[in-house]
Amino acid sequence: MKISRWIDTEFDNVECPHLKVDGTPESTTIFPGEEYQHVSWIHPLIASVFDAARERWDSPILVTSGIRCQAYQEVLRKKGLRTAEVSPHVYGVALDIQSQRAVDRGIDPTLLVHDSKRIAELIHKVDPGIRIFCARYAFKFVHMDAAYLIPDPLPDGRPKPESWKAGVRDFP
Ligand SMILES: [Zn+2]
Repeated sequence: MKISRWIDTEFDNVECPHLKVDGTPESTTIFPGEEYQHVSWIHPLIASVFDAARERWDSPILVTSGIRCQAYQEVLRKKGLRTAEVSPHVYGVALDIQSQRAVDRGIDPTLLVHDSKRIAELIHKVDPGIRIFCARYAFKFVHMDAAYLIPDPLPDGRPKPESWKAGVRDFP
């Protein structure tokens, strides 16, 4: 199923594995008119910024993670993966992405780092408000999100993290 021009559930891992098993998409009212329609819902802003960056890059970009439910987020944390307790992925405003050509070469580390930096720069050019993290992941992938769109407090009552501001990024 096509999520946007360049995001397709057939190739991209945008769906939460938990929600897929469960089969019952969560619904949310944090974005009025944009309630989750399916387990692979991605906020239209993030999808359109991804598409614009993809067109400028002119080579396939793989989405390795999109929406996650809170339960799946806990699974990742227990696996010891460096992921936040509260994650923008849970609200459908985040994507993790990788250069497809670097993955195709059996994950070529040098090319992966090179491409991650270039893709991150492109995303920043398309929309400087998008939060971008890749240095903290050793440029193995690029995390992009629009966490600043999430209201404070979070839907579960917790305060919105300080760093969920437009334009925050960890590369020059
Ligand atoms: Zn991420």
